Amino acid sequence: MSVEWFSKLKEVDSLTKMRINHLKSLSDQEARLATLLQRKDQELSLVSRLQSANHSLQQELFEMEQKLKTSSEQKQRFLDRGADEEKIQGFSREISSLEDRGFGLLEEIEANTQELERLRTFLAGLEETISEINAEAQTEIGKLRAEVRNIELRVSLLLEELPSDFRNLLLKTTAKNLAHGPFTRVDNGTCFFCRFKISKIYESEIDMQQSLKTCPQCDRIFLPYGL
Ligand SMILES: [Zn+2]
Repeated sequence: MSVEWFSKLKEVDSLTKMRINHLKSLSDQEARLATLLQRKDQELSLVSRLQSANHSLQQELFEMEQKLKTSSEQKQRFLDRGADEEKIQGFSREISSLEDRGFGLLEEIEANTQELERLRTFLAGLEETISEINAEAQTEIGKLRAEVRNIELRVSLLLEELPSDFRNLLLKTTAKNLAHGPFTRVDNGTCFFCRFKISKIYESEIDMQQSLKTCPQCDRIFLPYGL
């Protein structure tokens, strides 16, 4: 009978590991989506910064135009009156510097507009990628969740079927997260993993009588010979 308990122990253990892997895949899928959405947010906030920069630049350009108009009119009045050369030159310098600033603004606006165009193209592609990956991930997430539910159901049934000493020992040993899992065997009179020396009597209890025993050194559960 206890051989059957040992196989159930092994099954619970492998299902538990499978469940952990599925949960890891689930969070990988979710992280993949979250990364893309985060990237999209970053690009969108860049778009809105550029848009508001362009808005301010256009406002500045508009004010520049007004000043340019006023200066040109004033210069013309002085010319009409035949005022002194120095004043007229002063206006000419102001007009020229306003024009330079205007060209500078136009260049900045143009550069921002090109960058906005590039970002919009990029965002359209990103949007497409997100919707493809989302569809893919949702299918995968649905499958994984269903599998996790089945595993949990199967594990709880198996645990109910196990006698309490088997169940408790497995839960206790699994909780220790031992490398290579919770099981070991007797191998040439020692524990297969930690090489702790096992007495002949202990070995016979494990392999012949299929008793539930753990390694005194590494705490792994001994599986009897043939399992
Ligand atoms: Zn051991």
